[in-house]
Amino acid sequence: MVDFQGAKLSLGHVVQLWVKAFRQSLLLLVQKSSQPKVPNPTPAVLAKSSADVKESSPPPKKIVDINQPQTCKNNGCGKVFKEIENHESACSYHPGPAVFHDRVRGWKCCDIYVKEFDEFMTIPPCKKGWHNADPVP
Ligand SMILES: [Zn+2]
Ligand SMILES: [Zn+2]
Repeated sequence: MVDFQGAKLSLGHVVQLWVKAFRQSLLLLVQKSSQPKVPNPTPAVLAKSSADVKESSPPPKKIVDINQPQTCKNNGCGKVFKEIENHESACSYHPGPAVFHDRVRGWKCCDIYVKEFDEFMTIPPCKKGWHNADPVP
């Protein structure tokens, strides 16, 4: 009787252990299969979307910071400047107008005319003034 009960108990115990082990292995399988799927795609998607936002946000900039580099539109200048560094003699330029004839090009403002375009580009600016980033109307 004692042996039989012991055998019965131990058999039930073994079955219980087996069921536990089976459940644990199932849980492990679920965790293993679900773990890589959830954390990986989410950061990638977030990083992509935030990058897209960063790329698409800069173009519409109308408010100009005084520390914002701007390109001077004055003839013969074309330098990049910051408004905070701009002053009445910061810019060397030709007030113009530029003159283009058949074989001659130059500046009416300083009355210098040359034949080659390269020469024209190197004519020293004749006037100093403020850098101007706004397109000439
Ligand atoms: Zn000039
Ligand atoms: Zn300038």
